[in-house]
Amino acid sequence: METFDELYYTDPYAREFDARVTSCEPAEGGFAIALDATAFYPTGGGQPGDRGTLVPADAPAPAPAAAQGTPEGEPTATEAPGTVHVREAVPGAEPGTVLHLTDAPLAVGTRVHGALDWTWRRDNMEAHTGEHIVSGIVHALFGYDNVGFHMGEKCIEVDFDGILTPEQALDVERRANQAVRDDVPVRALLPTPEQLDAMDYRSKKDHDGQIRVVVIDGVDSCACCGTHVATTGQVGLVKILRVGTKKKKTRIELLCGRRALEACEDLTGRLRDTSNFLSVADEDVPDAVRRLSGEKDELKHLLKQANRKIIDQEVASFSPTGALLTCYRDGLDVDELRYLCERALERTEATTCAALSPAAGGDGRIAYVLASEDADLRAACKQLNGRLGGRGGGKPHMVQGSWAATREEAEAAIAELLG
Ligand SMILES: [Zn+2]
Repeated sequence: METFDELYYTDPYAREFDARVTSCEPAEGGFAIALDATAFYPTGGGQPGDRGTLVPADAPAPAPAAAQGTPEGEPTATEAPGTVHVREAVPGAEPGTVLHLTDAPLAVGTRVHGALDWTWRRDNMEAHTGEHIVSGIVHALFGYDNVGFHMGEKCIEVDFDGILTPEQALDVERRANQAVRDDVPVRALLPTPEQLDAMDYRSKKDHDGQIRVVVIDGVDSCACCGTHVATTGQVGLVKILRVGTKKKKTRIELLCGRRALEACEDLTGRLRDTSNFLSVADEDVPDAVRRLSGEKDELKHLLKQANRKIIDQEVASFSPTGALLTCYRDGLDVDELRYLCERALERTEATTCAALSPAAGGDGRIAYVLASEDADLRAACKQLNGRLGGRGGGKPHMVQGSWAATREEAEAAIAELLG
């Protein structure tokens, strides 16, 4: 039965410890090492497992920094020779046991000094505590339960079984940051069954055995076996990045603590880049982007009008010799190809028109529109597609699509089938 007397529960701030190797087995990608004590939290309850190092106690003193390096090539200041890297701590077969997944073996009985990747663990403690604060506030305000939880490096995803509007989420964020500023204690309690019966707490599922309840005074009580910071103030910052609703559920993406601050730095930097580029003040960026977008639409419209004028002039100069008119021009979109066909049928003697242009996207295809005053073009279109590696179709008197062919191949096939 889980007793919660492991080092990561009794002292969640322990970042170094001494232990002895009790087993070492080959495991996928390396080795699985068990110790007689550990501060490494094993993956579980939505919280990622710890990373870090195990150094044999009899290892020689570290060499100078320049000679050292991690597997990624990052220089590290003080890595002793013989250092074993823990890429993830995971639960062992028995409750309360931990397997350290490592890149190298250690002999059973070896005394080791363990050290956590503290930035990683501290980030996860801030994230996990922040998640409790947010889930507690949502539960208190709206009665929604946290029905899904994933802690990633880029963000924490929390799913609630009800709809939260962006305004409501912003209110939750403000209240969460107020709880952070209030700096109230975060306590992990191990109540007796009788005490537990009298407690009001959030719990995702029924557990057997001892229940651990994490209490944040005035904010939340929740059954949880993760690691947390000691007071809400140490969360530092709660930032909701995104709110999405789907089928009566809401997914909130948030960041806490150091990672939230980094995300804010990143966002401010991007805003600065954008405002510099637009030569406007930060607060004027949305208006400036809207103005640019409006100008772009207007220019598109003007370009379209100009193109149509050019097409009109061109059509006026056409003097088709037969019933078929084929026209190839650069830079026309499908709308303009269609317009060209309509105008040509209207203003020339031709009764069938094929308008071609290099397809947008620069993949060497030819965009086409075929139009006829009286003939059904669908069968011919099918044949042309077959011969020219094409796709597309349409109504009897107008078809459109693209061909994977050269201009010469397309014009020859058109002349043969429609001429
Ligand atoms: Zn927790």
